[in-house]
Amino acid sequence: MYDLIIIGAGALGTFHAYYAAKAGQRVLLLEKDRYPVGATVRNFGQVVPSGLAGRWFEYGRESLATYRAIQQETDITVRQNGTIYVASDADEWQLANELHDRYRQVSYPSELLSKAQCLAKYPALQPDYVVGGLFFPDEMSVEPEQMVHRLIGYVQHKHGVDYRPGSAVIDVQSNYNGAIVTLANKQRFQAGRVLICSGHEVKLLFPELLADAGLVVSKLQMLLAEPVNGLSLPGNILTGLSIRRYEAFQECSSYAAIAARIPDVPANFADLKKWGIHILFKQAIDGSIIIGDSHEYADATQAEDLGYHTQDFINDLMLTEARRIMNFPMTIRKTWAGFYSQTPNEIFEYDIDEHIRIVTGIGGKGMSSGAGFAGHTIRQWLGVDV
Ligand SMILES: Cc1cc2nc3c(=O)[nH]c(=O)nc-3n(C[C@H](O)[C@H](O)[C@H](O)COP(=O)(O)OP(=O)(O)OC[C@H]3O[C@@H](n4cnc5c(N)ncnc54)[C@H](O)[C@@H]3O)c2cc1C
Repeated sequence: MYDLIIIGAGALGTFHAYYAAKAGQRVLLLEKDRYPVGATVRNFGQVVPSGLAGRWFEYGRESLATYRAIQQETDITVRQNGTIYVASDADEWQLANELHDRYRQVSYPSELLSKAQCLAKYPALQPDYVVGGLFFPDEMSVEPEQMVHRLIGYVQHKHGVDYRPGSAVIDVQSNYNGAIVTLANKQRFQAGRVLICSGHEVKLLFPELLADAGLVVSKLQMLLAEPVNGLSLPGNILTGLSIRRYEAFQECSSYAAIAARIPDVPANFADLKKWGIHILFKQAIDGSIIIGDSHEYADATQAEDLGYHTQDFINDLMLTEARRIMNFPMTIRKTWAGFYSQTPNEIFEYDIDEHIRIVTGIGGKGMSSGAGFAGHTIRQWLGVDV
């Protein structure tokens, strides 16, 4: 008998398992695949609360504390090497300055860097691109292909979470004792409560409900460039189009006027916008560099239409823009597509009844805010102290 069964061992499911087990709950974590291969392992590994708005910024701040606390106990690949947003024109620089002021008011550390300071810190930046930078020294990065696996190991060994990969859940029903979960192999597990963190999988559990939930799946294309001798790109590097895209900047007073203008540069701005492209860089511990991303959208019930392949012309658009920003040999080792679900309502949180809750659709902010959000849910839903 478990207190809590969690379905899905991505970042959301595993951080919920962490908080619940830490609070003394007996937790079973079920993952359909032999190991997680969803959004949680396909991302940049950027933990960037600075880009988030409203309560998600607060969850992001709490997430930084959670990553830090776990990293102090075991290596889950967390590095606190900061985030920079590089502004490429006067409008983006204006937004960077306004966000800096806003964060000063809530005591969230940030520094404005001059063009010269940016070039000194990131010598690979193209001098023509840079107007200035907004730097967040407290922010972190993780290695996406390793973090969740290490986190799962940690919650198993340190907090006694029972983790069972290769366990596809096909049914969840309430009963007199809480809820019962059935796997594809007919195995059953009982718990007081069940939390479903199934990412963009919407066809297995409560499919009618999820079909009507307004969930949209986003497909993102990503590139990995080979390491370059002597190249140092510390932390999370976000650029002008990210400033024009991220929620935090949308809360700045000049945002509406700036968003209404079409910048002269890049000349193919309309194409980049059409494919949801903004350029981020994240150097891994082995020196390779993740470069992305693009965004295409489909109703969550029709995600197949997004295709399983990456499109070369989108990769070319990204690389051309990346080369306008950075000057290093971008020799591409591999490309991939990642998928996540999102909703216009920030997240899809739904109680089937008092025993069963669904949490999905966290969108592109799960690595930055998922840990803090999980702590909040466990405190509020289970009424425990974490
Ligand atoms: C390309 C890309 C780049 C991104 N970059 C960043 C970034 O740098 N920073 C950031 O903050 N966020 C980023 N994100 C977003 C972030 O990765 C997601 O928000 C987060 O990983 C979502 O976690 P999740 O647990 O909800 O989903 P997932 O990681 O998809 O996990 C869901 C899990 O549930 C399992 N599952 C589903 N159904 C069942 C079932 N019936 N039974 C058992 N198991 C089941 C799946 O197998 C899967 O392992 C990015 C996303 C992508 C795709």
